[in-house]
Amino acid sequence: MTAYSDVSLMIDGAWTKGAKGRTIPIVNPATEEVIGHVAHAETADLDRALAAADKGFKIWKKVSAYERYKIMRKAADLMRQRLDEIATIMTMEQGKPLYEAKVETNLAADIIDWMAEEGRRTYGRVVPARAENVYQLVLKEPVGPVAAFTPWNFPINQVVRKASAALATGCSIIIKGPEDTPASCAQLIKAFVDAGVPAGVIQLVYGVPSEISAYLIPHPIIKKVTFTGSTPVGKQLAALAGAHMKRVTMELGGHAPAIVFEDADLEQAVNVLGANKFRNAGQVCVAPTRFLVHEKVYPEFVERFTAFAKNMKVGNGLEADTKMGPLVAERRLHAMDTFMNDALAKGAKVQTGGKRMGNKGYFYEPTVLTNVSPDSKIMNEEPFGPLAPIIPFKDFDGVMKEANRLAWGLAAYAYTKNTKTAAAVGAAFESGMVSINHHGLALPEVPFGGMKDSGYGSEGGLEALEAYLNTKFVSQLNM
Ligand code: NAD
Repeated sequence: MTAYSDVSLMIDGAWTKGAKGRTIPIVNPATEEVIGHVAHAETADLDRALAAADKGFKIWKKVSAYERYKIMRKAADLMRQRLDEIATIMTMEQGKPLYEAKVETNLAADIIDWMAEEGRRTYGRVVPARAENVYQLVLKEPVGPVAAFTPWNFPINQVVRKASAALATGCSIIIKGPEDTPASCAQLIKAFVDAGVPAGVIQLVYGVPSEISAYLIPHPIIKKVTFTGSTPVGKQLAALAGAHMKRVTMELGGHAPAIVFEDADLEQAVNVLGANKFRNAGQVCVAPTRFLVHEKVYPEFVERFTAFAKNMKVGNGLEADTKMGPLVAERRLHAMDTFMNDALAKGAKVQTGGKRMGNKGYFYEPTVLTNVSPDSKIMNEEPFGPLAPIIPFKDFDGVMKEANRLAWGLAAYAYTKNTKTAAAVGAAFESGMVSINHHGLALPEVPFGGMKDSGYGSEGGLEALEAYLNTKFVSQLNM
């Protein structure tokens, strides 16, 4: 049986308590029990983390990409070896079903591998010169110590994309991890430390998010900021980073349209969209959110999707047959109630679900809504929970207008058997990621990021490493 332990800060190669010994309780969202405590960083701890990151950067940037790759690959192997323990810890603190936690842990190892390998290919180039004896070199250099802020929905994967891109390119990093789900995140950092990442290269702190970001982002040691979380917070942090001219990557919220055309394979559409709507209880930035279904297949889609939702087994993620766990915290139950009350007041019809389940644990029913008014909160704000509004449409232009109506542009989905429609919809979506007839996002080798209010920069593919590199041009006349 995996034991859940208290979580410390990682500063300069040592696991440590905060300077004042303060802690934050960690609650199991399935049972509401306090299962541990996470250390709370003080300003003195942040100063130590900054000094360590400064020192760590000077060491790590001189380690060859080949040596960095070897250490990182070892960390990936440790993640795989510790799979069961790490996944259990994640389910206990986050709530997601154990098999989802295992998928996340394994994917983290794959991401580390891929970034480590790609770090060996951060090529510069030689630009032909206009004069003899002149060499024009384009060099790629690590940007420097990074401040990273990561959320609780994917406690490991939101961190590993940032940490492994930073480490692969020779940067050091201070991670402000998720206070709701700190132990699985700490397991990732432990794997890096145990694999031999030198002291100072990777720091992990917890505390009051707004205080930590306000302290780290303007600090002269920090050269890059990366944040995953909500759009309002992202805008604040990007503005602060802008005021101090820091490089920025922002992976923010979304409100993904999922279009089902009349010629779609409805079974495939319901199964894939349903699984991805209710995965992690809907607490996923790329979750399908507005279901836009052609009027000819609308009644059948609603019926099938409602049956899918009713069939979801909701429970403690540690139980083998659980398909959907609780929401991460009590505040998310209140958020769901706010969306529901507003939708109902504006005439929405509940096909299934619509309320909290029981009174122990933060469980919420998989919910399907029809007759949803366009001005409902749920049609305009990110629900980040298991609520699925289904809306009929008549024609291509009308549905694309609705799909692109909101300020977000993270993920978008469509189902059609017609390749011309598929190509047209792929081109028309204003979205950083588009997946047609399946859910094909978030692999290490493909870009992951948004446009519009969903942020900028990418956390996958070649682009992920580019975000941690400066371009330097050297022109050399050989005498
Ligand atoms: P929240 O906005 O309070 O927090 C979201 C995340 O941002 C948390 O990890 C939090 O620690 C961090 N954060 C908040 N203020 C910060 C600050 N000033 N500086 C640094 N970090 C800060 O909301 P919440 O209740 O935790 O989550 C709800 C909303 O957050 C959702 O509706 C969703 O939009 C967004 N969210 C998005 C993602 C994502 O993957 N893009 C993940 C988690 C939450």
